[in-house]
Amino acid sequence: MSIYADVPKGPAIEVFALTQAFKDDSNPSKVNLSVGAYRTDAGVPWVLPVVRKTEISIASDEAVNHEYLPVTGLDTFTSAATELVLGADSPAIKENRAFGVQTISGTGALRVAADFLHIHLNRNVVYYSNPTWENHHKIFSDAGFTTLKSYRYWDQNKRQLDFKNMVADLNEAPPGAVIILHACAHNPTGIDPTQEQWTELADLLEKKKLFPLFDSAYQGFASGDPDRDAWAVRYFVQRGFELFTCQSFAKNFGLYCERAGNLTVVQKCAGTKAAIHSQLTWIVRGQYSNPPAYGARIVSKVLNTPELRKEWMASIQTMSSRIRQMRTALRDKLVALGTPGNWDHIVNQIGMFSYTGLNESQVRVLIDEYHIYLLKTGRINMCGLNTGNIEYVAKAIHAAVT
Ligand code: PLP
Repeated sequence: MSIYADVPKGPAIEVFALTQAFKDDSNPSKVNLSVGAYRTDAGVPWVLPVVRKTEISIASDEAVNHEYLPVTGLDTFTSAATELVLGADSPAIKENRAFGVQTISGTGALRVAADFLHIHLNRNVVYYSNPTWENHHKIFSDAGFTTLKSYRYWDQNKRQLDFKNMVADLNEAPPGAVIILHACAHNPTGIDPTQEQWTELADLLEKKKLFPLFDSAYQGFASGDPDRDAWAVRYFVQRGFELFTCQSFAKNFGLYCERAGNLTVVQKCAGTKAAIHSQLTWIVRGQYSNPPAYGARIVSKVLNTPELRKEWMASIQTMSSRIRQMRTALRDKLVALGTPGNWDHIVNQIGMFSYTGLNESQVRVLIDEYHIYLLKTGRINMCGLNTGNIEYVAKAIHAAVT
């Protein structure tokens, strides 16, 4: 009898299972709206031209080798990433109150953050939005958090932010609780608080002594303007919060598998940096020793070279505007078909996803009868839509709803 015999099989990860089912499906009309990755209008992955150019130049640079990076990563990357989220003129950077640690993309930043908060600040309570990116729960639970709670975020009837109940739930959080906030382009709903609502949230977190942890997986990708997408984080920093921001360069650089991420730490004063930095070093050391260089080198070179940075900005405009076009096209087609319900939320939402409001049985119809793959919550990746399949998808949604 094997020592492994009693290991139970874990549940499937929905998003990856759907992608596999999509790959296995031989129907020529099939559409994948599940996975969170950009696709061009031809329905294929996109290597940003500036990324391609930069990887070629790095690969042909004789000075580049494959030595280990420092445990906390490539300095030119972490400082550029920190500057990207906080702003070049951030007082926290000028006063040496902010620094970054390179991580295994956004997921790794969240895990390193969770470990630090649990081990060194004795935090056990975390709040995330309902709904949220499904991995938040697992990351914090694996890190040892014992109280994992959600705050209401989405009003299914009105298909908009449930701000009143969000505030009510956060008001119940005990002092010191870690509050995960999506910096922009909330996944999965695509709905962010307004600036007035962020202001109210900052008042609440300050009064209740809650710790803001910004998850920033879509900076620049959401509106096409990285500064605009960083408004909430910068506002909290300006208000004097000590906070963490977990950055991913998967979406905005299209570097999904290269795992380029950054944990930005903002402190009240520069004096705490050495100790925090050293403890983060030990956390990374124990987890994976040091991060991969490939993606970080690309991001660093692009962000630190003005002409390349300009090209990157143009590419994020291309991606975000294609998504906006698909939002308008889908809404317009559903309206033209006379599909019951109001579909304005599709254009009001921002970022990669739309929380369509389709229920589980409607989703089943789309998958089983139309070979359109989407999460059972009704979340669709807008990038999976293109001029070639949008008519088909709109008609299928119409049929599923009526
Ligand atoms: N946070 C949110 C809200 C996300 O949607 C994602 C990816 O989908 C991540 C974090 C982490 O992504 P990655 O680890 O690929 O950078």
